[in-house]
Amino acid sequence: MKKHIHVIGGGVVGLSSAWYLQEAGFHVTLIDRGNFEDSTSTGNAGMIVPSHFIPMSSPGVIQQGIKWMFDSKSPFYVKPRLNLELAQWLWTFYRSCNNEHVVKSMPILYQFNEWSKQLYQNFAQDSKFDFCFEKKGLLMLYKTAHQEQEELEMAEKAKKLGVDVETLDAKELKKLEPEIDLDVLGGVYFPGDAHIYPNLFIQQLYHNLRDQGVQFITNMEVVDFEYTGSKVNSVQLSSGKSITIDEILVTGGSWTSSLLKQVGIKMLLQDGKGYSYTLQNPLLRPRIPTILTESKVAITPMGEDLRIGGTLELGGMSKKVNKKRLSSIVESLPKYYPQMDAKEPRIDKTWIGYRPCTPDGMPYIGRSKSITNLSVATGHGMMGMSMGPATGKLVSELYLGIGPSIDTTMFDLDRFTGR
Ligand SMILES: Cc1cc2nc3c(=O)[nH]c(=O)nc-3n(C[C@H](O)[C@H](O)[C@H](O)COP(=O)(O)OP(=O)(O)OC[C@H]3O[C@@H](n4cnc5c(N)ncnc54)[C@H](O)[C@@H]3O)c2cc1C
Repeated sequence: MKKHIHVIGGGVVGLSSAWYLQEAGFHVTLIDRGNFEDSTSTGNAGMIVPSHFIPMSSPGVIQQGIKWMFDSKSPFYVKPRLNLELAQWLWTFYRSCNNEHVVKSMPILYQFNEWSKQLYQNFAQDSKFDFCFEKKGLLMLYKTAHQEQEELEMAEKAKKLGVDVETLDAKELKKLEPEIDLDVLGGVYFPGDAHIYPNLFIQQLYHNLRDQGVQFITNMEVVDFEYTGSKVNSVQLSSGKSITIDEILVTGGSWTSSLLKQVGIKMLLQDGKGYSYTLQNPLLRPRIPTILTESKVAITPMGEDLRIGGTLELGGMSKKVNKKRLSSIVESLPKYYPQMDAKEPRIDKTWIGYRPCTPDGMPYIGRSKSITNLSVATGHGMMGMSMGPATGKLVSELYLGIGPSIDTTMFDLDRFTGR
């Protein structure tokens, strides 16, 4: 008989894992402290991005990051604090920002995102799903010559990797976006990217999983583990109830490292907080998902709506909306789209999400070496929505003992702790 797997965490990674595990015949129970309406996997920009083949830790990022630290409206911020885990994360991040790491990561990230896009397409073709999957590509718009150079270098790397890419001047951009004026120098277009309405995908995955017989324990937090030697025997819930464990898969996003600490597993992971807000059926909007590259703001048409998101703050799970950084997202819109106004959303209408960020920009996916019935899938940073389904598929291969379909060496859980 196949194993019973308890999945902790129902973001895109946990739900996708549950999907492919139940499909493979495992008995699955998923536990989440929420109800799938407001996780990091719902309010994000919904971009499915084979074009994002460069890991966050790459040469030049440190210098740029230091400059941004002194600008209260910049898209990146580390809240200064005395914290050993943050110091270790930053040191490892610094060490990963080199060309050799980028060259090794690029084909893996591209292949992983491309595979995931195919899996999204399969979901989209299933009549039980309708989550506004569209293949309109991704535009990287720039206003300055300095940024142009950076984007063109990226386009060259993309070509070498076999990624479809086009460099467009302002006139050519107008053909792609005839309904909205652009004030830019040019743009790089990745026609192979896609996008979805993530809130719909998460809700539909949840409902379909229930119909497939997956058990859910919702609005309930896992607060402790009972383990002996190398095996977790049970988990304790916030209700006080204890659940016996056969196999456990931890997909807790940014909360994963604090959970794993309880079973003696150390993991370098920081929460990359970001904001988004969604305009319902606006009169004016771009057709194609776009990144305003100087401001690092993502704009995605989703169904009839338009979602705008950005900033990455390593803030120690702070729940506060930083007004200045939110204003900076909003103010970037009319700089690129002169017809758009900079109307700020109400703070209570601003969504907050926490990207689970590893110091080398590669996820953690695999089985623990110290706890034999525990596996982990997290750390997808800025690309978790994009890589969610492929991660779920990889997890199912891991439990089935087949494959894996792609090289997982760089996803090793213990790569920084050297177990
Ligand atoms: C502004 C913004 C824009 C983004 N845009 C994109 C994009 O366009 N494309 C893209 O690919 N990615 C994007 N991302 C990143 C993406 O959203 C994340 O990488 C992804 O959602 C992470 O998914 P996850 O399943 O690992 O974690 P989460 O979605 O955070 O899910 C983890 C779940 O675990 C649960 N949990 C944690 N601890 C416990 C516990 N102890 N007990 C019970 N439950 C627990 C939480 O409640 C949560 O539901 C964006 C992120 C932000 C912030």
